[in-house]
Amino acid sequence: MSTQDQSLPAPAPPVNPETKEFWAATAAGRLLLKRCLDCGSVIWYPRAICPACSSLHTEWFAASGRGRVYSYTLNYRGEGAYQDCAPFVLAYVELDEGPRIMTNIVGADDIDLAVGLPVEVVFHDTGDGSALPRFRPAELRTHPAS
Ligand SMILES: [Zn+2]
Repeated sequence: MSTQDQSLPAPAPPVNPETKEFWAATAAGRLLLKRCLDCGSVIWYPRAICPACSSLHTEWFAASGRGRVYSYTLNYRGEGAYQDCAPFVLAYVELDEGPRIMTNIVGADDIDLAVGLPVEVVFHDTGDGSALPRFRPAELRTHPAS
């Protein structure tokens, strides 16, 4: 299986006042995270209240867009907008800043896919003022040392 030439759909996400800035940034090619100004937690998913200490004192900051595959699976049975694009890779990526986010891995050969693989963010435009953050191998054809 290869996702090298894969074309995944990019359905527009629901946007609310808590996520508006996040999605606007994705359209500009930037991945934002929130940080709690009281306890220092990095917050995922985007929201107004810190899930660790319930503080409302949070701020946006630009994430590096880099991380590692924490877990992944090959999905052979897409639903809805994904019905005709299987197989595709569904994964959790652990960002360098800490949060683990559910996403897709694109542009990877079977041999590249592994837990711990370094990845970097790419953005797939939804055409509706947002883009979906997905990840590709950060070092194509280079395998992490075990
Ligand atoms: Zn906090």
